[in-house]
Amino acid sequence: MEPKKRKVEDENRQFLPEWTDLYCFTLPNRAGALPMCLICNQTVALIKSSNIKRHYDTKHKSFAGNFPLGSDQRKSKIASLLSSYSSWTQIISRSMAEQEKCGEASLRISWTLAKHMKPFTDADVVKECFLEAGNALFENKKDVVETIRRIPLSASTSTRNTHVLAEENHFDLKRQLNNANYYALAMDESCDVTDTAQLIIFVRYLDKTRETFVEEILALLSLLGRIRGEDMIKAVMDYFEKDELDLKKLLSVTTDGAPAMVGSKKRTSSPVEKQ
Ligand SMILES: [Zn+2]
Repeated sequence: MEPKKRKVEDENRQFLPEWTDLYCFTLPNRAGALPMCLICNQTVALIKSSNIKRHYDTKHKSFAGNFPLGSDQRKSKIASLLSSYSSWTQIISRSMAEQEKCGEASLRISWTLAKHMKPFTDADVVKECFLEAGNALFENKKDVVETIRRIPLSASTSTRNTHVLAEENHFDLKRQLNNANYYALAMDESCDVTDTAQLIIFVRYLDKTRETFVEEILALLSLLGRIRGEDMIKAVMDYFEKDELDLKKLLSVTTDGAPAMVGSKKRTSSPVEKQ
């Protein structure tokens, strides 16, 4: 009987410890990692003895000559390759952690500036303050000052950060509204400096976790063209659809009583209330 063709799935995909001594390979300690050559840091495509052996035999012929299998030299050479690989991975993971921390610091600073309605360019001043304070406060200031220097705080980063935070904040509000049983809106319309009509919508709801009523800005909608009650109601309806908010939960709409809002025919409040 013809032997069954071996499939890739049938291969033993376990990394064997003896491959380190035989072929100078290691398996990096992370999910989905492929075997890596300790001599040249290249990886092979499969966790398979033949792939690893081929790499060792073709690329590192002289290594086998200089450090014969079973010799003490080979043992200590491989031990030193392993230890430099492990310190290298430690450096990488430390610098990744530091990058993450600096990113978080940058986000927190942008958030504070936005909360106090300060311009993004103030981030540079914050950084300067930080550096001055760090220099004055800490004994071992070199590390502290170096870390502060690495916090990304240019005006463009701050702008990007603020967008990220605003989106996150809005996403959180939407989650809260989906969670709430009912909500109420208050709306007002006004023109900005470029004479474009803006409709601001406040939302009020019961935050179940905090057991308190919360009022937040839900949206600021630009109304281009005519500003009639029906234009406003269309903008609000479109907004609710876009943000997938449930109109059935809308209990009431408050306006300032201007004609466009409370007109007898095409007024803003009535169509929403009827939902
Ligand atoms: Zn290699």
